[in-house]
Amino acid sequence: MTVTRHSGVRADAAPDGSAPPAIELVGVRKTYRARGADVTAVRGLDLAIAQGEFFSLLGPSGCGKTTTMRLVAGFEAPTAGAIRLQGRDVTGVPADRRDVNMVFQSYALFPHMNVFENVAFGPRRRGAAKREIADRVGAMLELVDLTGRERRRPAELSGGQQQRVALARALVNRPRALLLDEPLGALDLKLRQAMQVELKRIQREVGVTFVHVTHDQGEALTMSDRIAVMNEGRIEQLGTPREVYEHPATRFTAGFIGTSNLLSGEVAEVTADRAVLRYGPAGRISVPLRSGLTVAAGERLELTVRPEKIGIGPDAPDGDALCRVRGTVTEVVYQGTSTSYSVATATGADVVAFLQNATSADEIAVRGDAVWLSWDPRHSYAIGAAT
Ligand code: ADP
Ligand code: MG
Repeated sequence: MTVTRHSGVRADAAPDGSAPPAIELVGVRKTYRARGADVTAVRGLDLAIAQGEFFSLLGPSGCGKTTTMRLVAGFEAPTAGAIRLQGRDVTGVPADRRDVNMVFQSYALFPHMNVFENVAFGPRRRGAAKREIADRVGAMLELVDLTGRERRRPAELSGGQQQRVALARALVNRPRALLLDEPLGALDLKLRQAMQVELKRIQREVGVTFVHVTHDQGEALTMSDRIAVMNEGRIEQLGTPREVYEHPATRFTAGFIGTSNLLSGEVAEVTADRAVLRYGPAGRISVPLRSGLTVAAGERLELTVRPEKIGIGPDAPDGDALCRVRGTVTEVVYQGTSTSYSVATATGADVVAFLQNATSADEIAVRGDAVWLSWDPRHSYAIGAAT
């Protein structure tokens, strides 16, 4: 049995021949009026999601992720702005005419129907022929690896299997886009990780645009082509997993995604593309300056550096090629594949360094040791003026 790719086939071309974005939000705002008070959940979102993309909205609880999804699905109307699907303005179009399907954390399967009936629900309601329904449901159950479970009720399935039924039930309708709101949130860690890989495979096979909501940064990094990091109804940063992880553009992104070290120092010197900061006695940090960021000598600049980029040793690194900071080890935590060292630096900030346990099972330093931290300047990432 084959699963037809339906992105591309149905993509309407823009006048210049290129496919329009699958989903576009233009200046979208949403204010709820609840018990006499206004709550603005989404504050001016501009976003374009490409055909066939696996796109994630990542942010803490309450930042507006579900609201954004409900706006795209048509369950809520924006207070301002426009929503376009495949280049067509759907701002006033009801949910059942939008060609997008939503999958929720709670699955929302029909408990009294078996697996086959649950998946057949959409095509049946649209009046598809019996034969066609059987074919389509069969193909979907094969896609989500549930062939042979047709007669089971949802209560007779594991959480992961129920989630796969929910997925099949949405995809059988051949939506142009699938919206997944914390779809793996109810699963335990092991199952969640297995389902992350599954979801990605399914998305690749069907080629449908997936918009996925999560507050779990690991999940977003693992599955997404691109991630929008959301905070308080706004997008803080948008980029590939590598971009948002390696180059967090704001303090919020740096703190929310992974462990990150925030350092600040006085600018000693500025060249065309970098600044050199003084950091305590003998400490020195070189930072590439990305476009749009201007600093002058004497100002304070804030930067991030990821823990796995930092080396640690008893001696000062040679020459000026590396960033270098002095400190005292305050904590050593063995973590299996790596060891985490916390170091109190000369200016008071704590820096965490992760070192792979690849070559040695021994600790490089112990609590109380005076050490040097060093890293390649390209792993320093300037955030902006320190306040
Ligand atoms: P998330 O999915 O990121 O947790 P939501 O979009 O659910 O965030 O909520 C964003 C904000 O909007 C929150 O402050 C929430 O309390 C508020 N909100 C969500 N839905 C409603 C509603 N129907 N009425 C009033 N306020 C709401
Ligand atoms: Mg939510």
